Amino acid sequence: MNSAADHTSTAPVLVVHDLVKRFGDTVAVGDMSIDVERGEIVALLGPSGCGKTTTLRLLAGFERPDNGSVLIGGETVVDSQTWRPPERRRIGIVQQDFALFPHLSVGENIAFGLTGGHRAWWTRPWRRFGRTEVPARVQEMLSLVGLDGFAHRFPHELSGGEAQRVALARALAPEPAAVLLDEPFSNLDQNLRASLRVTMRAILKAADTAAVFVTHDREEALSLADRVAVMRQGRIEQIGSPDDIYYRPQSRFIGSFVGDANIVPGRRSRGGAETELGYVLLDDAPSAQEGESLDLLLRPEQLALKLADPGQAEAANVISSEYYGHDQVVRVRMASGREIEVRLSTDVVYRIDDAVEVVVLGDGIAFPR
Ligand code: ATP
Repeated sequence: MNSAADHTSTAPVLVVHDLVKRFGDTVAVGDMSIDVERGEIVALLGPSGCGKTTTLRLLAGFERPDNGSVLIGGETVVDSQTWRPPERRRIGIVQQDFALFPHLSVGENIAFGLTGGHRAWWTRPWRRFGRTEVPARVQEMLSLVGLDGFAHRFPHELSGGEAQRVALARALAPEPAAVLLDEPFSNLDQNLRASLRVTMRAILKAADTAAVFVTHDREEALSLADRVAVMRQGRIEQIGSPDDIYYRPQSRFIGSFVGDANIVPGRRSRGGAETELGYVLLDDAPSAQEGESLDLLLRPEQLALKLADPGQAEAANVISSEYYGHDQVVRVRMASGREIEVRLSTDVVYRIDDAVEVVVLGDGIAFPR
């Protein structure tokens, strides 16, 4: 779990207000507002087509909004009277495919945005770097991303993870107010992603810039971001810390989208709910009506299994088991026919058809039915 952003200034460097973008009848982005502080990492998370990429393109200046405003580094870059093209916004961009220049060395790739003479569309030298300062800045960026000694390599001589870090170094070199990252891990090997997320977070924190990244991968969002904005149909449905989003989702959609979830019907009773899994405590408003029907969201890791006593009425049966080494996911069928997913340590291995009892370990999250 991430702590709050470790930075001193709390003034937002990226302020998005009521942003709207339509394509014909499709509202790709509707009334989007969000502030991002210096040193803060925000993830835009959501299913395909929810408007993540369009939001990033609006911030970058690759699309014009139909309404709303964007302020970057204290300057309005777009509103009803203002339009600044990408190269005049204080942003750095890391593209999905990293977009390194194949014919330039790593050092030249990083230096490219610093000299400004090329009008690079993704970045401009916000801090003026004299020609004599460029080599030192390139070296500083290589150290920041842990690639000392790589200046003379060419992109084809880099691993995917190294190419990602060069793209990040190039985006950060001109000291942008904000860096925008489009699905930065999607081109990388699945096994590498977890360690690269840790590296990416450390680099962004050290650079102390605001960062917004787009992803449809919930693990990526929860592990890398200080705040996660969950989008649906062009709107932010909830924004909060990874912990908030995961354990206090404001809707069934968010609860199910950000993690594996069992939805179990229940009836409110004495501050909790009676369900087919037994009595479950609820972490919500005590003002709710006794007897009210509701749906409970229970994460698989909030559940445990016990082998049932022989002949125990209402026992559930194991229908599948997936072994992952560090844990296992066991699916059981309740007497009602409902299937429940349980994530467990591997000290007890369950077999198909074992009769078991499901035990609820934590509070449930309630949604009205
Ligand atoms: P994905 O994860 O699949 O990339 P996304 O969340 O990034 O999806 P967007 O690409 O922002 O979603 O698209 C949002 C909506 O706007 C979709 O319905 C898409 O079809 C539509 N859209 C995006 N760009 C255009 C365009 N240039 N012309 C018409 N419709 C578009």
